[in-house]
Order: sequence, then C-alpha cells, then structure tokens
Amino acid sequence: MAARRTGIPASIRSLRKVELHQHVDGSIPLRTQWRLLRRHGLNPVETIDEMRQRLVLQAGEEGSLLSYLDKFHYPLWITQFYENVREAAIAITREAVAHRVEVLELRYSPVIHTYAGLTVRQAIRAVLSGFNHVQKAHPGVRCGLVVIAMRQHGPHIAKILARQAIAEAEHLHERTGVVGFDIAGPEHGNPPRLFREAFEIARKGGLGLTVHAGEAAGPDYVWQALDELGAQRIGHGCTAVADRTLLKRLARDRICIECCPSSNYQTGAVAKGAPHPIVRFLEAGVPVALCTDNTVVSATDQDLEAARIAPQLGRGALAVLRAIHREAAGHSFIGRRGEA
Ligand SMILES: [Zn+2]
Repeated sequence: MAARRTGIPASIRSLRKVELHQHVDGSIPLRTQWRLLRRHGLNPVETIDEMRQRLVLQAGEEGSLLSYLDKFHYPLWITQFYENVREAAIAITREAVAHRVEVLELRYSPVIHTYAGLTVRQAIRAVLSGFNHVQKAHPGVRCGLVVIAMRQHGPHIAKILARQAIAEAEHLHERTGVVGFDIAGPEHGNPPRLFREAFEIARKGGLGLTVHAGEAAGPDYVWQALDELGAQRIGHGCTAVADRTLLKRLARDRICIECCPSSNYQTGAVAKGAPHPIVRFLEAGVPVALCTDNTVVSATDQDLEAARIAPQLGRGALAVLRAIHREAAGHSFIGRRGEA
C-alpha cells in the first residue's frame, strides 16, 4: 500500500472524499484476506505475494470483464461467516477513512454470502456491525450499505431480497443501516425492466435506488433503469455518452453517475487510451461521483482514482475534483431517513 501511494500529491490526499460505489468482496484489503484464509486453512498458495496475483487484476488480464469477475471467488471462501464479514467491513472502512473518505457507501449481495448457513439478514448485519465498530473511533464518518440483487438470480429473488433489505433500512435503526438497493451481474439477457417490482418494493421501503447499467450494455438499459426502475443514480453508465437525449435527461433529473475509471479501463467498458465518460458527463452537466468499484481487484483507492483521472480534467483539475466530491455528498443515500 505504501508503495502505491508514493507520488500522490498532498493536495489530492487531503481532499475530503465521498465513496458511493465500492463492493465489499472486491475491496477486502489483501492482508485481511490473507489472514482470514490462513486462519481457516483455506489459502490456496503459500505466500501473500502469490495471493496478490490471484486477487488483483494483472496487466495481462485487462480488457476482459470475465477475467475481472474471476477475481471474486476467493473472497467468497471466507465471507460466508459473520465474524469474517464483520472483520472485512472493518478493514475496508478503516482503509477508506485513511484516504479521507467521509461518506462511505459499501455495496454487497447478501445472498451469495449465505452458502454456509447465514441468513440474508445476518449477512447484512455483519457489514453494519463492522461500520458501527469503526464509527466509534470516527464518529464523523457516515456509512451505509447498498444491498445488491444479482441479475442472474432473477427478478423473484430480487423481490424477496428487497423485502429483507427494508427490514434493515437505516431509518428503522438507531445506527447504520441499509440505505440503497441495486442490481448487478451480467447485463445482457437480464434487462433492468424485469426488476421493476423489486425496485418498487425498495422505493416504498424508503431505500435509495441505483442500478448497474450501461457498463456492458447500451444506453437503452440506462433508459430502462430510469423509466422502469426509477433509478436515482446509475453505476458506470459508460455507454450513456453515446446518446445525447439521454445525457440531457440525466442532467435534467440530476441523476448521479457513479464513475469508476480504473475498473472501466480494466474491464474494457472504456477502451484504453480513450477519454473516460466522466469528462463528457461533466461537460453535459450530469452529476458524477468518482468511485473505486473494487479497491483490491482494481489495485486502487480514492487517492489513486483522483490522481489517475486528474489529467483528463484539464486545468483546475483539483477544483473539479473538490466539486465532484462535494456534490456527490448530496447524492448519497445515507441519512435520508426514508424520505423517498
Ligand atoms: Zn460495481
């Protein structure tokens, strides 16, 4: 970690940051994963350096969403147990705080953490318990969980999950809670419109609505996320830049695009060397958030995302970055107390 951070200007490190799109499974710090794997005798290799190669996307693996997704199976070996999930959430949150993240939304699909017998609600509570632990030492940091329904599990499971997520909604609890609902997983063949009822349940339950859309599929899926699901934010949304009418709609309705530059270049959602869509979104007046997606898989953090995108933001990049994070805070689902 120390080596990766060298060369980051103090002006970026000292920025107050907002993280709206970060997955638990792809962000569990390497040392934490290694410790948990070894504790349970599950380590498939003998050294942490070999483990790093399996968990972090390697140079030769870039440009393929499949290679990217293949990095997620080892974390699932350990995150089937309450204490491990809690420990992972604590480590991720502490790392975010170290990068001056003051608003942290983590996201996670509880269903894929129930293979060893946890219930969905226990899987959710484990993350919230981790948040609560770190907040004791950092009361100024605001945390919340976005529950993800996996598209490949189908609309019916998504509905069941939405109901269970509501039971842990932030506004029903004294401390941290579930603040949002999302769908993720393979886009093609699983159009957003199929998940309309699940999003209706989540909306009525007071959760914020965000949708992974336009990462692999075209702008029509972003339209569906808005028109059929009532999305208030869009995860990635890269292909929206090809549709001028859609850009106008996103700007008019103040829909925030959760941009994850490193991840997008790594999966091939954005071609290497091409400008990142965040530039076009900013030009079109579309609200954006700068996010990490998966700090471990993408070998990134909030400082690195800012440093990497800064050259594309031109002169005054620092002021632009500051404005992005300030405005992103207004799009966080945390603390809305079920106003939707
Ligand atoms: Zn994502």
